[in-house]
Amino acid sequence: MAAIDTLPPLREVIRTHDLQARKSMGQNFLLDLNLTAKIARQAGDLSACDVLEIGPGPGGLTRGLLAEGARRVLAIEKDARCLPALQEIAAAYPGKLEVLEGDALETDPLSLLTPPIRVASNLPYNVGTELLVRWLTPPEWPPFWQSLTLMFQREVAERIVAQPGSKAYGRLAILSQWRADARIVMQLPPEAFTPPPKVSSSVVHLDALPGPRFEADAAVLSRVVAAAFNQRRKMLRAALKGITPDIEDRLLTAGIRPTDRAEQIPLEGFCALARVIARP
Ligand code: SAM
Repeated sequence: MAAIDTLPPLREVIRTHDLQARKSMGQNFLLDLNLTAKIARQAGDLSACDVLEIGPGPGGLTRGLLAEGARRVLAIEKDARCLPALQEIAAAYPGKLEVLEGDALETDPLSLLTPPIRVASNLPYNVGTELLVRWLTPPEWPPFWQSLTLMFQREVAERIVAQPGSKAYGRLAILSQWRADARIVMQLPPEAFTPPPKVSSSVVHLDALPGPRFEADAAVLSRVVAAAFNQRRKMLRAALKGITPDIEDRLLTAGIRPTDRAEQIPLEGFCALARVIARP
């Protein structure tokens, strides 16, 4: 019998361990193991990888990752109530699951992971966005992770994969697409979760690029993109005038019309502008 079949259904786990979902912890659980297996499959071949899972909760996705053959799963969970349920999973998969109790925003799990590493998580949305930005902006590139497979509120997922000319296009799209191939791989209605959240969700998969897609200094690019999208309705010559007094010339050198708005500029254009601005 497969190890996953020896474990009780997740609804029973919730009852046995009294894991009533807490809003303060952003808890919306996935209790359908077919669905969690499907999400785990989106993470790619796990058999030769350590998987970092943030916020395993009662362990639905954790079970999916292990059943899909992950070499090892390291899970970080803030809610101590979930630990006994996770220990049952660890017992069914000896040596494969390690659980750390703690806040993922304050825990550095790297010393406990062996590359190659994939990340797969269904996290509270605010924590997910903050971690995504951290994972995309490490001091060195390539990062510790090979891929990220993350659940987001649909609107945030659309911002990650957005293309120029759309309302969703902004800093998150530039950052994600500069460093990774990003795509939405699943859409989930609110009813997929217990309790159902108010909004629909999407799973986004990001594969790390070996190097940034176009050459640019990360700090300069970040400054330019922040200024451009902070005043997204303004023409770039106005939105960026605080960056350098000769911004109009620099825009033209980068091949960008000074009268364009941030929303119209593709990633390649922002990188070209960052290179021109970085020149003495
Ligand atoms: N992965 C489980 C699932 O799919 O059913 C639970 C998902 S629930 C949306 C989010 C989980 O993240 C909860 O178990 C919650 O306790 C945990 N969590 C919330 N904030 C966290 C943090 N800062 N660090 C680690 N875990 C956190």
